[in-house]
Amino acid sequence: CGVFGVIGVADAANFVALGMHALQHRGQEAGGIVTHDPETGFNSARRFGYVRDTFTKADVMATLPGSIGIGHVRYSTAGSKGNTAIRDVQPFFGEFAMGGCAVAHNGNITNAAALRRELIERGSIFQSSSDSECIIHLMARSIQRNIPERMKDALRRVEGAFSIVAMTRTKLIGVRDALGVRPLVLGRLGESGGWCLSSETCGLDIIGAEFIREIEPGEMVVIDAKGVESFHPFDRRPSRFCIFEHVYFSRPDSILGGRSVYETRRAIGVELAREAPVEADLVCPVPDSGTPAAIGYAAESGIPYGMGIIRNQYMGRTFIEPTEQIRNMGVRLKLNVNRALVRGKRVILVDDSVVRGTTSRKIKDMILDAGAAEVHFRIASPPTAWPCFYGVDTPERSKLLAATMSEEEMRVWIGIDSLKFISLDGLYRAVGEAGGRDPRNPRYCDACFSGEYPVAPSDMIEKGFEM
Ligand code: 5GP
Ligand code: SF4
Ligand code: MG
Repeated sequence: CGVFGVIGVADAANFVALGMHALQHRGQEAGGIVTHDPETGFNSARRFGYVRDTFTKADVMATLPGSIGIGHVRYSTAGSKGNTAIRDVQPFFGEFAMGGCAVAHNGNITNAAALRRELIERGSIFQSSSDSECIIHLMARSIQRNIPERMKDALRRVEGAFSIVAMTRTKLIGVRDALGVRPLVLGRLGESGGWCLSSETCGLDIIGAEFIREIEPGEMVVIDAKGVESFHPFDRRPSRFCIFEHVYFSRPDSILGGRSVYETRRAIGVELAREAPVEADLVCPVPDSGTPAAIGYAAESGIPYGMGIIRNQYMGRTFIEPTEQIRNMGVRLKLNVNRALVRGKRVILVDDSVVRGTTSRKIKDMILDAGAAEVHFRIASPPTAWPCFYGVDTPERSKLLAATMSEEEMRVWIGIDSLKFISLDGLYRAVGEAGGRDPRNPRYCDACFSGEYPVAPSDMIEKGFEM
């Protein structure tokens, strides 16, 4: 998901909608905005679909006055899957004795089921099936006398990944979990003196805000008319940012941890070409997620780069359509082969990841149909053998190709001439760790590749998941 917030600007909702639009790649099912205006109080709107189709309409935006606002773009990793109910669309809102608070959450709470059980037993009335709603109920039960303190209380009980943007009548709040699994950045709007929070820097760029800094892992910032106050409410631990944000999830024009995502992806391609060279005539990306890595692979190998697969710009990210059936159709609806280019050639296809393998298999069919002489796959991440429990939607373990097959078995199953994944060390080198992955102290979360979960997924373990 994507979260965005702004304070200290006229018509905050317009800024929030623009920020959400820039973060649309992080969630395409639905979006919501909450604002506050002294005259109308809190206002909210939730809609299914793209921001450009919903939060651009004058009748919707007119219901969202105020100079402070937050927004959320959703893709379901928890709660109702496949058929998001409007009640699961964030931000969530709670009214306490000291005033209201709206919360938008990116990540996944790994002890949400246990918390929900406990809260319901003690009288909480849940409105949604979302894990994120726990935060509001935990805040309601806190004995602290102001909202930021209540939020600290609540989040100390929450396990898992969270990057949160929240607001009260007068304050904008940003928080990251102690490991800093999901991103969150702070920006400043020059002329007006407003502040904003965004999942990624591309959300700042779109409104012309200056990137100030990342919210630190384990940090809470509280922003109001007086400025930015910083707290560290959680025990300090070495951070474990999601390495897959670099590979796929974030936009290539964003900066993560001081690194250009585009440059990192290009470096992954360079590493791949060194680790897994092959004789061929053409390097093609599987657009758009494989493009920077393909550029790197082509540059390092000296094999010409070409657009062998053309993407229909009017389709969203396939994987994010949550049902199997739509996902199956999605590949063809979105991608088509550039026949004239690939005919008779030995083609290297570069993609970001193989999850179920459906994409790879369909692309192989299309490219062989078009007359390619050989098809070689090079993948910009190690085999995805474990599900993510921290906010990226991966299927259960049994549906992951790499959980049940060796690399050679996957190659045969997909039906291609060769298949190679970047090594975990190679990936770490590409994100700037010259010595590769330090097994005693890995700098990133890489659980979907390594199976080493930095936070025990306790709800899942209770359901029988074996690490
Ligand atoms: P598959 O067809 O193997 O199940 O899916 C892999 C494709 O889904 C990749 O091309 C990747 O670009 C895309 N994708 C979209 N969202 C995600 C995600 O959240 N995780 C992963 N691993 N791949 C995703
Ligand atoms: Fe990111 Fe994978 Fe960790 Fe999930 S398991 S947070 S996708 S690195
Ligand atoms: Mg892809």
